[in-house]
Amino acid sequence: MKYVLVTGGVVSGLGKGVTASSIGVVLKACGLRVTSIKIDPYLNTDAGTMSPFEHGEVFVLDDGGEVDLDLGNYERFLDVTLTKDNNITTGKIYQSVLDKERRGDYLGTTVQVVPHITDAIKDWIESVSLIPVDGREGQADVCVIELGGTVGDIESMPFIEALRQLSFSVGQENFCLIHVSLIPVIGVVGEQKTKPTQHSVRELRALGLTPHFLACRSAEPLMEATKAKLSQFCHVPAANILNIHDVPNIWHVPLLLRNQNAHHSILNHLNLTSVATAPDLD
Ligand code: ADP
Repeated sequence: MKYVLVTGGVVSGLGKGVTASSIGVVLKACGLRVTSIKIDPYLNTDAGTMSPFEHGEVFVLDDGGEVDLDLGNYERFLDVTLTKDNNITTGKIYQSVLDKERRGDYLGTTVQVVPHITDAIKDWIESVSLIPVDGREGQADVCVIELGGTVGDIESMPFIEALRQLSFSVGQENFCLIHVSLIPVIGVVGEQKTKPTQHSVRELRALGLTPHFLACRSAEPLMEATKAKLSQFCHVPAANILNIHDVPNIWHVPLLLRNQNAHHSILNHLNLTSVATAPDLD
């Protein structure tokens, strides 16, 4: 199984869900089978009891699971049918660990965030990624995992640690980290500012995760000088700096990625060029 992790930096509501779904679309267009997992670090077990005024629509899955609306994006973009287990929340993870503790499964050991919660997260990701969601037998080739919230949030720390361990155990060629970040424009000169992204990449690195790609959200397309600066200071090759500027509707985002050859770069990184065929640009 190959994993593509999508994290977000600087502010929430940047478009991680749309970016993760669009990455799934371009990989699917290369002939790969794609599944997805959404991680919501909140304590609610699911989105069923959350106010739509605060949280947005509650998306109801075929199995009755009431989940985050991003799973709706995944189903619509990727034409898959997800299960409620494809949405992981802190509430679900703690519930499973506490149930095991009450059953005595930990055999008297002290139950801790590391390793018990982090192990539960890794096991959950590894087993759910194997569930077929596209109506065909067998597992998908790639699992796109979106980590909700913003890197550095206290509540997402156990997930970051679990994902760091997962990336180490599956190896570089099976794990690709795409960090979605904001490039604001300040002042009348219209300079695109890279510092917030530099800080969020530094935060990610301090937690042991290295971004292989940056997906930069900006109002206008990125200038070459901005890309060069990001590459130099964030230690990401310029070819792996993707620009996802504001578009009139989100269905344009997979095309933006395709036009920047994101699929080629991701396939290369994941060593999938021999099994997937990246369609050339018209
Ligand atoms: P997150 O998962 O980071 O919270 P979402 O993927 O839910 O963010 O997107 C937040 C909002 O931004 C949504 O309303 C989405 O339609 C919009 N959005 C995302 N990407 C773009 C884009 N490139 N251009 C315009 N709007 C976008």
